[in-house]
Parts: sequence; C-alpha cells; structure tokens
Amino acid sequence: MTRPTIGVLALQGDVREHLAALAAAGAAAGPVRRAEELAGIDGLVVPGGESTTISKLAALFGLTEPLRAAIRGGLPVYGTCAGLIMLADKILDPRSGQETFGGIDMIVRRNAFGRQNESFEAGVDVAGVEGGPVEGVFIRAPWVESVGAQVRVLAEHRGHIVAVRQGNLLATSFHPELTGDHRVHELFVSAVRAAG
Ligand code: GLN
Repeated sequence: MTRPTIGVLALQGDVREHLAALAAAGAAAGPVRRAEELAGIDGLVVPGGESTTISKLAALFGLTEPLRAAIRGGLPVYGTCAGLIMLADKILDPRSGQETFGGIDMIVRRNAFGRQNESFEAGVDVAGVEGGPVEGVFIRAPWVESVGAQVRVLAEHRGHIVAVRQGNLLATSFHPELTGDHRVHELFVSAVRAAG
C-alpha cells in the first residue's frame, strides 16, 4: 500500500486543511460523511472543530455506531483537538448527552488550556517525529488527564499530555494541519501503511 486512502470525517471542523496535509504526506485523501464510505478507506482523520457538534452530527448521520465498530475492527484513526476528544473513552466534563467514538483508554478535559489562553503556539517534541519539535497550534485545546496501560504518551506540554497513541489510534491536542509541517500526518500515514 504505497498510497493509502485516508478519509477525513467531514461533519464539521477544519476538513480542507487535513485533506491538504494528508495529500502532502502521501495519501489519497477524501471527505467521509456516510457510514457506507467507511468501507472504502484505509484510515480516517477526525478533525478539530467542536466536539459537541461533531458528536451530535455523527449521531444524526448514523455514523456513531458504524465508526465505533470500525475502530474496534482496527481502522487507524487520527484525531486532532476535538478529534482527540472524540477518540477518548471518557470526557471529564462532557456537555449533557455528549458521546464519543472512543477507542483510546484515556480521560480528557475539554478546553483545558483555559479561556484566557484560547489560542497559542508552542514547540512540542513528539515521540516518533524526527527533526526537532513540531509547532503546536492549540485552539481551546483539551489535554489528557490520565491514560490506561495500553496508551503510549507521545508528547507533553506544560506537564500535560497532548499527544497519545494506542494501537492504530493517534491523537493530538494541537493542530498540525494548520502549520504546513506535515510530519505528524506522515507519522499517521506510515501507521496506516503498517496496518494495511
Ligand atoms: N474546545 C473544542 C471542543 O471541545 C475543541 C477545539 C478545537 O478543536 N480546536 O470540541
């Protein structure tokens, strides 16, 4: 599988930026909105945006259960920011009725970096990404409060976990798709190739 097909969940959020970053990282990328489309992809990105909205729309479009099943079946998924929240088994502070796809044994805190700091950038060293820190763009970003034994912590910022991996699932609190640095997407594309 030299050029894997990777979908971007296109319900809400920064879909276009991920499509561009995935293409630059060597994938054939396209939007995914319907459950039937899950069968045709080797991997999936859940973008940043608003996790409560993504959760609602996923339920409305009948995607929640099929996506959970695909994750259980080993589909590689990369979540950024709201996407990280969607991959968490548990949210510390969910809005009422807010559901996740789950898959990563972790507890996340939404908007953890605080309102005053709604947006900031910082260099982040990510395990498995060579060539120095990536520029982390944090926008009302969550952090990971705690992880289970199966989860590998890939990066921390200010003492908080901001990147994790569990099996074929990868998640970052920050947005590499906004920087023009495609190394984290390349890491995911290699994970998709390895899984295929
Ligand atoms: N705070 C948002 C949420 O809870 C995430 C922000 C983002 O994705 N940039 O979904």
